[in-house]
Amino acid sequence: MLDRDKFKQLPPEIISNILSYIPNCKLDPLLVIDILVPYILPIFSQKVRLAAFIRTCDHECYSIPPCFASFESLATFIKRFNTYPREIEIEIDVQSLPRTSSHWYDNYIDILNHAEKLHFRRYYNNYTEIDIPGEFSDKVGDLSLSINTKDQLPGVLENIPRNISALNITIVKFREYRLLEFKNLKALRIPECNAEAMKYFPDTLETFHALDVYSDGKEFPLDKLTNIKHIDMFVQGSMSNVSTFLNSRKQLVSLRIGNNLIESIEELNLPLQLRELSIFFSPVLINYFDLKKLKRLRKLSIHESQFPYGLFNIKENPHINAFFPKLTYFTYTRLIGVSNFLCFRFPRLSPEPGYYTIVMDDRVVFPDSLRSLDVAGNFTFENNWKCPEYLRTLILKCVKFPEDGFNVTLPDNLNTLHLESTNLVNLDDLEFPVSLRSLLLICNNDLNSISNTNLNDLPQLETISIVGNPERFDKDNLPNKPAIQHKY
Ligand SMILES: [Zn+2]
Repeated sequence: MLDRDKFKQLPPEIISNILSYIPNCKLDPLLVIDILVPYILPIFSQKVRLAAFIRTCDHECYSIPPCFASFESLATFIKRFNTYPREIEIEIDVQSLPRTSSHWYDNYIDILNHAEKLHFRRYYNNYTEIDIPGEFSDKVGDLSLSINTKDQLPGVLENIPRNISALNITIVKFREYRLLEFKNLKALRIPECNAEAMKYFPDTLETFHALDVYSDGKEFPLDKLTNIKHIDMFVQGSMSNVSTFLNSRKQLVSLRIGNNLIESIEELNLPLQLRELSIFFSPVLINYFDLKKLKRLRKLSIHESQFPYGLFNIKENPHINAFFPKLTYFTYTRLIGVSNFLCFRFPRLSPEPGYYTIVMDDRVVFPDSLRSLDVAGNFTFENNWKCPEYLRTLILKCVKFPEDGFNVTLPDNLNTLHLESTNLVNLDDLEFPVSLRSLLLICNNDLNSISNTNLNDLPQLETISIVGNPERFDKDNLPNKPAIQHKY
C-alpha cells in the first residue's frame, strides 16, 4: 500500500521516477494523495483520451494518455483540479452524444475552447459529419475517414482542414492522392496509391502506411518523403524502382515491406540505419544474407515468407553474434497452408500437402543479443535445439513437439512463456525457470495436466493463463497463491 507520509519524505525526482513506472491508466486513483497531485496533473494537462470502452490493460497504457469515459467525466475532473488538457483524443462517436441543442459540442464548448488539439479517433464518412465550429478547424490534429467510393474522395478531401497532422483513410480504392496543401501532415495511412502519387505528398510526412503501392514501372520520387521515418507498404510490381528510393531515406528507422517478386534482400537496397524491419508476404524471397549490413537492427519480423534458414544456420553463418550485434526481437509467422482454424486463434491440424516443416535443431542458432523469440507455424523442435541463452520471452504458436512432449530447455532468465495451439498433452515434471512471471497456455487442446512441477516455488510468478483448453484439464495441481491470476 502507498504510504502518504513516506511520500512526503521523498525528493521530487524520486517521486517523478516512481510515477514514471505507473501506467497512465492507473494514475487517476492516485490523485487522492495530495502530495502526488502536482506530479500527476501535468500528465493530464498534456493529453487525455475520451473512450467509451475500457481497453484491457497492457504495456500500451504507458503511451496511451489517461482515459475518460465521457465528456462529463472529463468536465468533473477539470472542475475538481482546475486543469484543462491541451490535447484530446476523441474516440467516442460525437454524433451519438446526448445533446440539448442541435450541435453535440454545445455542452462541452468550454473544454474545446481550452484545447489546442483535437484528435478524432473514430472513422467518419466525411469531415462535415464531425460537425465542429469553423473556428476550431485549426485545432483538428488526427483525422480518420472511412470512404466507400472513389468518386466521393476528392470532395471529402476538399473539406478537410489544411492543418491536420494525421490522415487515416480506409476502404476507398483510389491511387492518385494530391496532398501537398496539407503542410503539417506527419502521418498518412491509405489503402493504396501509385508510386507517382508520392510526388504530391508533403515533405513533412514522417509515417507512411499503404496496403498497396503500385510501382507501375515508375520511379519512386527521390526528392520526396525525405523526412520519412516509418514506412509500411506492400509494393505491387517491380521492386527495382523502389530500392534507390529506400536507400536514400536517411531518416528511415522502421520499414515493413512486402513484394511478390524479390528473391534476395539485396534487391531492397536497405538503408544502413534501420532499427526495425518487417518482411511480409514475399513468397519467393530466399536470400536474407544482405541483412548483415544492418548493424543497428533491433527488431526483425518475417511473416508469410520463407524461414531465413541461412541467417540462423550456424554452419552457413558461424559469426552470428557479429552479424547481429543488437537484434533483440525475432518474430516469424507462417500460417497460410496450415489454416483450418480449429481453435479460435490458431489452427492445430496437419498442414496441407506441400507445406514444409521448419525444423529447429542444433544447426539453428540465434544471436546472444536476442531477448524475445516469437514463432508461429509448422515448426518441429528437435531435442538438440538450444534455446537462446539470454531470452526473456518465448512464444511458440501452432508448433508441434515430437512425441507430444515439451523438449525445450528454458533459459534461466526467462520471464514469459507462451505456448499456444500446440500438440502438448502435459507439462508434467517440467522445471520452469525461477524468474518466470507469466505462463500463458492457450488453445492447447490436448493438454490435460501440469503436475509435479516447480510452479509453486516461483517467487516472481504473477500470471498463469489457461485459455481454451478442454474441461478435463486438471487444475488441482496448479499453484493457488492469491497473487496469481488464473484465467480459464
Ligand atoms: Zn492499463
